[in-house]
Amino acid sequence: MLHIGCHLSSSRGFAAMGRQALELGADTFQFFTRNPRGSRAKGLDPADAAALVSLMEEHRFAPIIAHAPYTLNLCSAEERNREFARETMADDLRRLEFLPGQYYNFHPGSHVGQGTEAGIELIAQGLNAILTPELHTTVLLETMAGKGSEVGGRFEELRAILDRVELSDKMGVCLDTCHVSDGGYDIIRDLDGVLAEFDRCIGLNRLKAIHLNDSKNPPGSHKDRHACIGEGEIGLEALARVVRHPALRHLPFCLETPNELPGYRQEIALMREQSKS
Ligand code: FE
Ligand code: FE
Ligand code: ZN
Repeated sequence: MLHIGCHLSSSRGFAAMGRQALELGADTFQFFTRNPRGSRAKGLDPADAAALVSLMEEHRFAPIIAHAPYTLNLCSAEERNREFARETMADDLRRLEFLPGQYYNFHPGSHVGQGTEAGIELIAQGLNAILTPELHTTVLLETMAGKGSEVGGRFEELRAILDRVELSDKMGVCLDTCHVSDGGYDIIRDLDGVLAEFDRCIGLNRLKAIHLNDSKNPPGSHKDRHACIGEGEIGLEALARVVRHPALRHLPFCLETPNELPGYRQEIALMREQSKS
């Protein structure tokens, strides 16, 4: 069975997200670890976390994705900002120990003119400063659209980061369909070719989750504007091939489409249906 869910608000706590996911027909979901501006996280309630863990076990959830605030930048030009990113991520990882075995996804960063190579090095240094052998979370680099000075728009860049992370077994990759299409990988006409390229550069064994989004823009546009499934340039047929692909179909898929909950419920049902045909 397809593992699919959507991005949910964490404002009512962990167990509430699990119940919300069930109501939507989901068996995975994603949430921001704190508000996207990266401010202080709320106090963590261990009983609430434990309630989510047992709900997920009872309903056989696939791993869920905690998403770091997208404003963090491990490769900022300012040490102060890099330190803030490291400290916030380290704090998120400490808190995620209450939900062992899940994923922590983050945007690698923007090199802001320092160059891709310098960005890659700073990102790897940041990860080396926060990963510990005791972690029960797998940290995912998200594939990016290559907007502005984003690092991670090319598979080679993600590979270069992974190569420099010492505790490499703590790391994986989350592929965002909007981002890779915007980044110039032709998942519309040549999904097999893109996955072969991913395998050659990174290794498909590193791929742990998929962000399933249509794109408001054509392939190669480097824009990063998500569209609802079937309402963008990628289209339903190409996204259906993604959820059906034998190399991907075991992974958790997470919608980050511009929907309210009823829209998410419909897209989850639609993709479950598409995954069978
Ligand atoms: Fe993201
Ligand atoms: Fe994404
Ligand atoms: Zn995006």
